[in-house]
Amino acid sequence: MSLSLPQMGPVAAVDATCPVFASFGLTTIGKLRRGQYRPLVLAALLAGLCLAGQAQEAQRAGPATLSGGAVTLFQNVRIFDGKSSTLSGPRNVLVRGNQIERISTAPIPTDRSATTMLIDGGGRTLMPGLIDMHWHTMLVRPTPAALLAGDVGHLNLVAGAEATATLMRGFTTVRDMGGPAFGLKRAIDEGTVAGPRIFPSGAIITVTSGHGDFRQPFEVPRMLGAPQSRGELLGAAMIADSPDEVRVRVREQLLQGASQIKLTAGGGVASPHSPLDASTFTEAELRAAVEAAENWGTYVTVHAYTPVSIQRAIAAGVKCIEHGHLMDEATAKLIADKGIWLSTQAFPDELANAFPPGSLERAKALEVFAGTDRTYALAKKYKIKTAFGTDILFSPGLAPRHGELLAKLVRWYSPAEVLVMATSTNAQLLALSGKRNPYPGPLGVVEEGALADLLLVDGDPIANIKLIEDPEKNLLVIMKDGRIYKNALRK
Ligand SMILES: [Zn+2]
Repeated sequence: MSLSLPQMGPVAAVDATCPVFASFGLTTIGKLRRGQYRPLVLAALLAGLCLAGQAQEAQRAGPATLSGGAVTLFQNVRIFDGKSSTLSGPRNVLVRGNQIERISTAPIPTDRSATTMLIDGGGRTLMPGLIDMHWHTMLVRPTPAALLAGDVGHLNLVAGAEATATLMRGFTTVRDMGGPAFGLKRAIDEGTVAGPRIFPSGAIITVTSGHGDFRQPFEVPRMLGAPQSRGELLGAAMIADSPDEVRVRVREQLLQGASQIKLTAGGGVASPHSPLDASTFTEAELRAAVEAAENWGTYVTVHAYTPVSIQRAIAAGVKCIEHGHLMDEATAKLIADKGIWLSTQAFPDELANAFPPGSLERAKALEVFAGTDRTYALAKKYKIKTAFGTDILFSPGLAPRHGELLAKLVRWYSPAEVLVMATSTNAQLLALSGKRNPYPGPLGVVEEGALADLLLVDGDPIANIKLIEDPEKNLLVIMKDGRIYKNALRK
């Protein structure tokens, strides 16, 4: 039986169908396309060794530096460095491997060999890749019903497609605030799927009746030794009702590679059982999570809206508050005094329409949204360390508006402040993961030695932040880890 080589194996399939991979050119895949190693790859695939070997290698080595020694030279770009409120003058930026090696006003000589990619920026803006600090990699596109009842293989493939779309919107890093993202993260790091860097939390940890407990009333009482609920089996949310149970659940996420731990300290909008005013974990339970995380060198962040839930979490040693929309003045002052992070967002009003008129969830949504203005005012007044994340969840229609949700912050901040928040400030919070950071190295900045996550913007995003609302048109080059995923300038 003769085998038709172009149809064989994942490399050929990717090559033929994926414009992302088609732009790599100078990478290993490019070499494969030229046919140099096809017989070898074919043999390995037939023996079933290649992918298994790569996977084992990736598991041992962590994120693969897929770009190897590839060199990209951006010429004549103006830099938004992630920190400054103005663009630089014309610069040249040399990327070698996965790092920014050199930034210079003078021309940077290269050997002009076939391994160097030259990009003429034409005076356009080079900026760091955007970072979303409250993302749910696995939960953006499915409905809650599809998540709980759907096929796991389908859910993973849909999430992979969304991860590629996320990267193509210029978000090169996400901090995943709950969901079974470990497998997808690994596939992205291996280069199997194009997507952002993922800082995974693993399952959200909640209490019985808390935000994230999506069980039906007929599923209680829960008995020791009983089968887990569907949400737990998926690794989306784990239920824990004592300090000991919390410790187990936290350590299970750490075992799987969590870079930080997420608990729900109070009620939530979309969850069926928890009122907004509910405080869920006791201080002792929260402290158990903090101890387990800190023993592992990382930190706990909590979903919390109300003063009670926020204050209790801080007393237990939690380092970051997600949302905080119902905080009061005293709580804001406490957050600032203790140096706690606030990771928050302005939810779009349309999100309330996801819930039927008159429903409890809709009323909860409106109550939270009404707190947005006050929360940002308090954050500014007390100079709280404030990070940006969207929390787009179960909303495939909202995800394409990712950049718009960021640009919307100009209601409270200058465009430069917004862009600084979504790059270098967010990266400071990522660094709280310490040695559990899966991608060591500076992120969110354009400077020598930083990891090369870069966007070439067709215009000046500080003068016109709306440019980031249309990434397809305005982001001409998207680079992550030194590797080019989009290059609209290439002829
Ligand atoms: Zn969330």
